[in-house]
Amino acid sequence: MGAGHNGLIAAAYLARGGRSVLVVERDVVPGGAVSTVERFPGYRVDSGSSAHLMIRHSPIIDELDLGSHGLRYIDCDPWGFAPATEDGPPLVFRTDLDSTCASIAAACSNTDADAYRRFVGEWGPRSRAVLDAFNSPATLPRFGRAFAGIGTTAHTARRGLFGRRAGSLMAATQELMMSGDALLDRWFDSERLKAALAWFGAQSGPPMNAPGTAPMVGFAALMHRIPPGRAVGGSGALTESLLNRLDADGAQVLTGAPATSISRCSDHWRVQTVDGAHCADQVVGACHVLATLDMLEAGGSVPASQIHRWRREIDIGSGIGMAVRLGTRELPAYRDLPSDLPPHGVHSALGLLATDRAQLRRAYAAASVGELPPHPPCVVMSFSAIDPTLAPAQRHSITVWSQWHPRRLRDGEWSTAAGPAADAILGEVDRHAPGLSTSIEHRLVQSPADLESELGLVGGNIMHVEMTIDQMFTYRPHPDLAGHRVPGADGLFLAGASTHPGGGVTGASGRIAAQLALRAGRRPRSR
Ligand SMILES: Cc1cc2nc3c(=O)[nH]c(=O)nc-3n(C[C@H](O)[C@H](O)[C@H](O)COP(=O)(O)OP(=O)(O)OC[C@H]3O[C@@H](n4cnc5c(N)ncnc54)[C@H](O)[C@@H]3O)c2cc1C
Repeated sequence: MGAGHNGLIAAAYLARGGRSVLVVERDVVPGGAVSTVERFPGYRVDSGSSAHLMIRHSPIIDELDLGSHGLRYIDCDPWGFAPATEDGPPLVFRTDLDSTCASIAAACSNTDADAYRRFVGEWGPRSRAVLDAFNSPATLPRFGRAFAGIGTTAHTARRGLFGRRAGSLMAATQELMMSGDALLDRWFDSERLKAALAWFGAQSGPPMNAPGTAPMVGFAALMHRIPPGRAVGGSGALTESLLNRLDADGAQVLTGAPATSISRCSDHWRVQTVDGAHCADQVVGACHVLATLDMLEAGGSVPASQIHRWRREIDIGSGIGMAVRLGTRELPAYRDLPSDLPPHGVHSALGLLATDRAQLRRAYAAASVGELPPHPPCVVMSFSAIDPTLAPAQRHSITVWSQWHPRRLRDGEWSTAAGPAADAILGEVDRHAPGLSTSIEHRLVQSPADLESELGLVGGNIMHVEMTIDQMFTYRPHPDLAGHRVPGADGLFLAGASTHPGGGVTGASGRIAAQLALRAGRRPRSR
């Protein structure tokens, strides 16, 4: 249930494993938050995600041979960009560490450039371990295996073989548990560098002063191995390749077919959709977990009181952000760019428009009381510069993502607030790239309320459930529902951003749920 990328990936592994698979999807467009449609004439515009980071560090693309089914990525190099200030030139993060350090030296200091080189050395293996844990079921033995050896690059003054090992392990685990801000203060001096990396880390949702957010910042170290990728044709090209793979393996995908209830029926499950009932021995619920709980409640197979408790205890937060999609005549013209950039300049990058962390903190504080950010921090992505298929000739497709924007406003409704909020976001972009506003020909605003109604993202949370440390790993989305299973509902598996390892384009939960279903050993048949 649910043809988001996690649902489709689960389906693809099941079909590859010889199962007979049917996917039912609420929307008429498959892919959920990984879809691209023509919003303006001649433009392919993403409905949700734009940059693919984590899935490129997983085995999924190779295991499902998605390259042979049409998926092609362009490396985003440079992968990160923070604009010039009065104090110095822009920061340009390239895949090449030497160029990145040269940029940090020019924009900040030699000390910070050296610190960044050490940071990448120490955090590369740690972030790899976090991703290994993300790509495996959330169990203690798996974590033990993923994190074994993470201490080897951490510094300790302890003496003796055992003392050094224990000391470096403790140093590494302490940093993993820290807030992103504390980690940045420990490693770097320049506020500009800290702001760029904090804003990168904050893309998971929580503010970087929250405990346990250090790994979200540390993930930047892996961008020097495999940078973010832009799927040719838009984010939805991943979905299209999955659909091609499913078709080749004989699986069926029904769109415009919302599931309304799941119930036990002798030895199988019965999924009711608007167009009829579908029966199977196993079901993967890959929509928002609250949607799956609603269906379970409607089906009556799990006590309603139990479902109400889970629903109350799962924290979906109060919204993360909003997007503005543009069709323009020009690309953003940032100031003081270095001369040694590739022909596409910095337009392959996540444009991290935040120059100090106070801006991030003010935005989060405002959202937490239902207000709009005074100076919305923005991520600008101008991917038509590297993929001309996205826009007509001489035109550009630009996405601006901005945080934090609450789903529920203290005063007013999104129906009237969305336009002025988008104006504020574009004003912020114009401050760093003067003149962009005057080149806009098309504009689509996706407020948190729009993300909820269009994509089924409950509470406007693009990660489904808050990515706070208390709801990650064996706690996601709830300790009872961790392990991708629902107590008392054998044969029902959970996937999707609501489950371990969480949101973003990862596919990991779909892969894990399918592995569990395949191992469960029964041979399901659609009936
Ligand atoms: C504006 C925006 C920008 C983003 N940018 C990025 C980015 O650049 N990089 C990144 O990594 N991540 C990004 N994300 C986050 C990322 O896209 C999501 O976390 C991820 O795609 C979630 O995938 P999923 O398959 O788990 O769930 P979803 O994509 O939410 O899919 C769930 C599917 O279930 C369907 N469904 C719901 N109810 C039912 C029902 N009753 N019956 C049948 N089907 C149902 C939904 O219609 C949907 O298709 C962004 C998200 C948004 C919205």
